[in-house]
Amino acid sequence: FESIDEDRKQQEVLRKLSETDLMTGIRNRGSGENLIRKSIAEGMCGMFCLMDADKFKLVNDRFGHAIGDKVIIALANSLTKTFRETDIVFRLGGDEFAVFSKGVVTEEIGKKILSRLFNNISDIDIPELLGQKIAVSIGATFYPSNQQDTFEALYQRADDGTYQSKKVTGNRVTFVIPDE
Ligand code: GH3
Ligand code: MG
Repeated sequence: FESIDEDRKQQEVLRKLSETDLMTGIRNRGSGENLIRKSIAEGMCGMFCLMDADKFKLVNDRFGHAIGDKVIIALANSLTKTFRETDIVFRLGGDEFAVFSKGVVTEEIGKKILSRLFNNISDIDIPELLGQKIAVSIGATFYPSNQQDTFEALYQRADDGTYQSKKVTGNRVTFVIPDE
């Protein structure tokens, strides 16, 4: 029995590993997307956000890749600190992250949560950055936004929002709310 127990434990460790982004310790893209698809299939509503760090190549160029990595880890920590444990926070790769915040369905509440995130990002303290601030661009939208809403459409709306936010310097969120 002990050996069956050991096998189970080992399988669990491997599963966890396959769902984790190794640099930051948060969920990876595959695992995050699977969980959201599952969640919305079960009828869960919520706010979906995509987030991309601004001018991140300059951080690497100016301070080196190791400091860049520290910033990515700090951004992941800001996200887990801001959102609930039951929310689905993950790294898409590079300087891009996403979150599905369950049960959040109004811009008013969404903005409150995201302003907390912006504060946490402003509080990032990495001495090697010599005071240079890290800023992010966010696109946000809600599920469901219409009767035939899908994960793909949700993702596209958030992506459009990030693109709009990129046009303006500094921490910014753009909500994309379809007419219908
Ligand atoms: P933008 O404001 O348009 O987002 O410009 P950007 O410089 O942030 O460029 P972009 O988001 O397109 O690319 C992200 C860059 O982040 C690309 C690469 O140089 C860097 N990067 C990607 N993954 C890692 C990583 O794991 N560690 C570090 N240090 N840098 C990474
Ligand atoms: Mg970027």
